[in-house]
Order: sequence, then structure tokens, then C-alpha cells
Amino acid sequence: MRETRKGMLLVISGPSGAGKGTLFKRLLAEDETMTFSVSYATRAPRPGEVDGKDYHFVSNEEFDRMVEKNGFLEYATVHANRYGTPVQPVLEAMEKGLNMVLDIDPQGALKVMESMPECVSVFILPPSYTELRRRLIGRNTETPEAVERRLGNAKGEIDQMNRYNYLVINDDVDVAYEQLKCIVTAEKQRSVRYFPIVEE
Ligand code: 5GP
Repeated sequence: MRETRKGMLLVISGPSGAGKGTLFKRLLAEDETMTFSVSYATRAPRPGEVDGKDYHFVSNEEFDRMVEKNGFLEYATVHANRYGTPVQPVLEAMEKGLNMVLDIDPQGALKVMESMPECVSVFILPPSYTELRRRLIGRNTETPEAVERRLGNAKGEIDQMNRYNYLVINDDVDVAYEQLKCIVTAEKQRSVRYFPIVEE
């Protein structure tokens, strides 16, 4: 059976602490058809992070230059740092029929959903606000004020959840991952992006 495919742009988003990063990394590790979109970020690299692999770590000025030349599909300020998805790699992947996955904050996700309505959007939800608070405190990377600010943002972000194609509750991470995988599997077979050729 011969077949051709159009690329899928998968947007994974959710409030800080919902666990989208874990699900996203697992999907990338297990599904070799998925390509990671390396974002630009103005924050400093964390230990172990590699420039050009985890992020393109850039100065505010370099980020501004990308904005000026319309180099971003979307960009947003997330927790005091700026992040942007470069548009060129996304367009190239779509042209080549490759799948690309974005792990971006809800402000960015809503912008991509507007400019590329054919994308597949998945919103990762925490099981409760109590659990979200517990996870944010457990990370031990945030001040108490920052935890409260993120929880406040989460309320507004969760209010918009019905704008996404799919909702996944990340209570048990294995169950959430199975659900994400089912979404990806089904979306790959959509007749808008899958073109098998039935031979004689
Ligand atoms: P971190 O600094 O912990 O890697 O990421 C912080 C937040 O920024 C996460 O919620 C992540 O999803 C989001 N983020 C990463 N890259 C981008 C991007 O290109 N655009 C937007 N809007 N958010 C991003």
C-alpha cells in the first residue's frame, strides 16, 4: 500500500504544573514521527540544557530582532521570560509532511490555534487546584508568591479549556499518556492528512 501524509502540527498546552512537559517528552521519545520545535527563550539555560537543542537561548535584543522580521509563529511572556516558536521550521515540516509538536503556554497556544486552525490542540488539566498547588510547591523552584501567581493564572487558562480540540486530565500520568497517544494515533488517520493509495 502506498500512501502520502500531510504534516500534523500538535499543540500541547496547559497551566504551569499540570505536567504537560512530562507528557510531551514521553511522546517525543516514543513516537519517532514527531519532531520537536526548538523555541527561542530569553531565560538563562538550566544545568544540562543545551543551546539549540532545548531552546535557542537569546538576548532580549535578539528576540526583538526575530519579532521585527516576523520570525515567530507566536511569542509570549511567560513568568517574566520571553518565549517564541520560530515559524520557518514549522512551515518546512508541514511542507515535507512531517509532524511537529509544540509545548507552549496557553497564550501562545491560542495564537497558534487562530493562525493555524488545522493544528491539533490538546490542553492538559490538573485533577484539582489543590493538586496543582501541591505540584508547584513540590518543584521547589518557585517562591510562595510565584506559586500563588501561577495558580491565579491557571484559573484564567482553565476557563478557556473549551477552545482546545482535546482535554486530558493528568491525574495518573500513565493514563494521561495513553489518552494523548490515542489522540495522536486517531489524528494521524484523519482523511484530511492521510492519503492511502489503493492499488490494483
Ligand atoms: P520553561 O522555562 O520551564 O522551559 O518553560 C516555561 C513555560 O514556557 C512552559 O509553560 C512552556 O510550555 C512555555 N514555552 C516554552 N516554549 C514556548 C514558546 O515558544 N512559546 C510559548 N508561548 N511558550 C513557550
